[in-house]
Amino acid sequence: MNTYWNKPAETMDRGERISLQTGRLKEIVARLYRQQPFYRSKMQEMGLLPEDIVTLDDIKKLPFVTKQDMRDNYPYGLFAVPMSEIVRVHASSGTTGRPTVVGYTKRDIGIWSEVAARALVAAGLSRQSCIQVAYGYGLFTGGLGIHYGAELLGASVIPISSGKTARQIMLMKDFGTTALACTPSYALYIAETMREMGVDPRETKLRTGIFGAEPWTERMRQEIEAQLGIKAVDIYGLSEIIGPGVAIECLEQNGLHISEDHFYPEIINPVTGEVLPDGEKGELVLTTLTKEGMPMIRYRTRDLSVLYREKCACGRTLVRMSKVLGRSDDMLIIRGVNVFPSQVESVLLGIGSTSPHYQLIVDRKDNLDVLTVLVELTDEMFSDEVRGLEELEAKIKSELASVLSVSATVRLVGPKTIERSEGKAKRVIDRRQL
Ligand SMILES: [Zn+2]
Repeated sequence: MNTYWNKPAETMDRGERISLQTGRLKEIVARLYRQQPFYRSKMQEMGLLPEDIVTLDDIKKLPFVTKQDMRDNYPYGLFAVPMSEIVRVHASSGTTGRPTVVGYTKRDIGIWSEVAARALVAAGLSRQSCIQVAYGYGLFTGGLGIHYGAELLGASVIPISSGKTARQIMLMKDFGTTALACTPSYALYIAETMREMGVDPRETKLRTGIFGAEPWTERMRQEIEAQLGIKAVDIYGLSEIIGPGVAIECLEQNGLHISEDHFYPEIINPVTGEVLPDGEKGELVLTTLTKEGMPMIRYRTRDLSVLYREKCACGRTLVRMSKVLGRSDDMLIIRGVNVFPSQVESVLLGIGSTSPHYQLIVDRKDNLDVLTVLVELTDEMFSDEVRGLEELEAKIKSELASVLSVSATVRLVGPKTIERSEGKAKRVIDRRQL
């Protein structure tokens, strides 16, 4: 039997939902025009008034918001309520410059908990679940987002945060953890550490993984599911919109349902900004329909995905997005060709004789881009004969060349030499001085 956290919202008839979304969109645009200087001036520049937004499709008239807008208005310039209404602030570190800051009212925290609870139920969890939250707690939204959702659901929460992997495993065994929430790369690291400690994941109570905060491929999912003996479910979210819980895979594992009564999705061509039809791949753009503290209109996520509206067997009528297929800003341009780390990942996991750990290094030599892919060997392969390794290297090289349409040098490295991450994995080192 299908279970839902909020059945009316999750199974609402499409027409009814569109009218709910339209009403909410009009309301939020009017409110921002009235009381938020950044949005008002952006709309004024385009000669737009709140009355110009009549149907949902009119959202196309509104300007996009980018991460740069957040940096330019650091720290609180995009907030839409007085600080006395803000009960929580989160921030993302960002690799360069100022962090991006987000603020929540009490009601925003309630909505976030609600969508996170919906997500956990869609992933098959219940009040009986014991959820080990191994996402970082702090300014990052991962830890607290899942935490509040799990408490609202009534599950037991173990707020361990990320890191101290041996301790994670000890508590997982002793506390009877049934679900693990963390990044997919950290899940693999935990699996590896379990093997080293001689712990068989199948002898623990762990059955489900809620993994997100970085793009991961279908093959990476199979790898994690096989290593940990669990069902690995993809959760999507970003602090700019609310945090984890914006979208979740149901147990059908065929796309992530977006809580679109709160977050309205569009897919655009990342170069032209044109809105693309359902089924086409492009950049995901999200509008928050109910947020108070820091609403976002047409936020460019830089995540590449596809939207599907076909019926899902789970009964949810919420639109689905594909697993994130890469980041438009993670895209490397190597000798004029677009290369995504996820393409390398699927080639490696497809061949299957290496570990799932890899890194792309880009250099520029004599004005030419040179891509080197470091591939980590498993213990078994490492002890293989040189000839076997040479064959493997050649195979990876030829498959990469056909998938990427650009040649890469492949370097096999010893087991556990690529740095492990307790959060998001570092897949690319770009040393080009551009
Ligand atoms: Zn579904």
